[in-house]
Amino acid sequence: MHILRLGALALLAAVPPPAAAQQSRLTIAGITAEPGSRASGFLEVPAARDSGTRIPFTIIRGASPGPTLALIGGTHGSEVAPILALQEVRAMVDPGQLRGTLLIIHVANLPSFLGRTIYYSPIDGKNLNRVYPGSASGTVSERIAHRITTEIIERADYLVDMHAGDGNESLRPYTYWNKLGLDPRVDSAAREMALAWGSEHIIIDTTRTRDRERSVYTQNTAHIRGKPALTTENGYLGLPDPVMVERNVQGALRLMRFLGMLPGERVKSEAPVWLAPYEVLTSPASGVWHPAVERGYTVSRGALIGVLTDFFGEKLAEIRAPFDGEVMYVVATPAMNQGEPVGMVAARAVPARP
Ligand SMILES: [Zn+2]
Repeated sequence: MHILRLGALALLAAVPPPAAAQQSRLTIAGITAEPGSRASGFLEVPAARDSGTRIPFTIIRGASPGPTLALIGGTHGSEVAPILALQEVRAMVDPGQLRGTLLIIHVANLPSFLGRTIYYSPIDGKNLNRVYPGSASGTVSERIAHRITTEIIERADYLVDMHAGDGNESLRPYTYWNKLGLDPRVDSAAREMALAWGSEHIIIDTTRTRDRERSVYTQNTAHIRGKPALTTENGYLGLPDPVMVERNVQGALRLMRFLGMLPGERVKSEAPVWLAPYEVLTSPASGVWHPAVERGYTVSRGALIGVLTDFFGEKLAEIRAPFDGEVMYVVATPAMNQGEPVGMVAARAVPARP
């Protein structure tokens, strides 16, 4: 009777496989996982017009059939809490208990992770989460996106792109629900996924492009292709904070239980805070950033978010809240480039429950 409240997605996931059902082995990029086992290796991104890289990934192939869930970490290399969490998830998920297939991208953007950069690849200067679905003949970020699109997203039924505050961002946890408006079934399933993940704060995002060939974001690339997807944000400032690592682990396990991939009770957030609209505030000039708020602050329209000075300390600009809302993240380190984010404010949605 509990299942009746969970909608079509859960009903589908709740249909048990035939007792004798056994799924076949799965091979991706030369890495083969037998039913009831895990295998790890690399998606190679060969050098072309610039340097190559490799993408560490794991296949956990359940013994019995079920959905395929892709969990992606390290799209931004300094967002480390999800990267550490996915190492734990890899070890915790018992292939013998798993139904379906878990695909883990441990670090999507290895050049950024090893180069300790924020936002941009140290090789081509591009933001991996702005170049999807990528290109086989593009620069390295575009080739990474192409590999992930063709090898992982095309195989997945569901996807979570696991982000955190970047190395400069002090962030409070939240999730983006992509209410794209192309397919109500996909939007609705993604909403259920957001609740299953356990977010207390969920952004209702209606701003993403519907262009399949220029889908821009990892999440959007899956969602446009009919695969319900989330972008989650748990962690901050490039730190392996144990509470944030655990939030990522528990979100992944909760979602797998919800999808019927792991045994255990299906649980959803009962009363999340729905947020819309949101606005990323950007800097009008390069200089030194002095934040006036911290993550999670509630602000009124006009409240001071921070002050930009020149390199001598003379004030260049004041950044103020565009509407009443909550500070989802604020840049907490001083370096600031023209046009880059200084923070993000989101308003409480009306009506409160979409
Ligand atoms: Zn990110």
